[in-house]
Amino acid sequence: MRLRNVKGSREHIAANSYVLKNGENNKGRWKEIFQDGKPIHIEIGMGKGKFLMEMARRHQDIHYIGIEKYSSVLVRALEKMEEEPLDNLHFLRMDAEYIAQYFEKGEIEQIYLNFSDPWPKDRHAKRRLTSRQFLARYQEILKEKGNIVFKTDNRGLFDFSLEEVKESGWILDLCTFDLHHSEYLEGNIMTEYEERFVKEGKPICKMIIHHE
Ligand code: SAM
Repeated sequence: MRLRNVKGSREHIAANSYVLKNGENNKGRWKEIFQDGKPIHIEIGMGKGKFLMEMARRHQDIHYIGIEKYSSVLVRALEKMEEEPLDNLHFLRMDAEYIAQYFEKGEIEQIYLNFSDPWPKDRHAKRRLTSRQFLARYQEILKEKGNIVFKTDNRGLFDFSLEEVKESGWILDLCTFDLHHSEYLEGNIMTEYEERFVKEGKPICKMIIHHE
């Protein structure tokens, strides 16, 4: 994601009703806040939010929360929401490193990780969103047998993730190294990055995992 400082993005986010505020104070209270008992799914590193907007359109019986670290990126998703408001889509501006401070065990039913930053240097492995450190954080918030759905074009990151999954005792429910030429393509919703990589002819890897 190309980052540049978008003037006024912090103020825009502070004033926007789709952005959930004081997230840490709501740990364990999300169902109460949404009031309708619908399950909650999150995307970590959602970028401009194209994928989650389509998911929210198709599945009105689910609340989606898009998590994004940078205001300058999140503000782009908010602009799209102004054109087409969706009641079941919400946003949190935060670093996913602190996710277990925002959600209680069992509050989240599904986590999407789409085209996460690869952090190619070995010394940065802990920052990868599929490292064992992050997997442990996800385990702290997912409901029993809740899924993580991960897609990437980066084969190095995917192979690393498979190792971390195995080492951390997660169970692999689906694994493909070429989603767009596989039996699993039906119903696939493309993210912004995915559209770009597919046009370039790059194979897309996908896994679905859960923990007992
Ligand atoms: N998911 C989108 C897609 O597939 O089009 C965007 C992918 S982009 C490569 C990765 C996004 O993750 C960026 O917007 C980046 O700011 C965000 N990100 C990276 N690390 C993060 C973290 N620790 N917490 C929250 N967001 C993060």
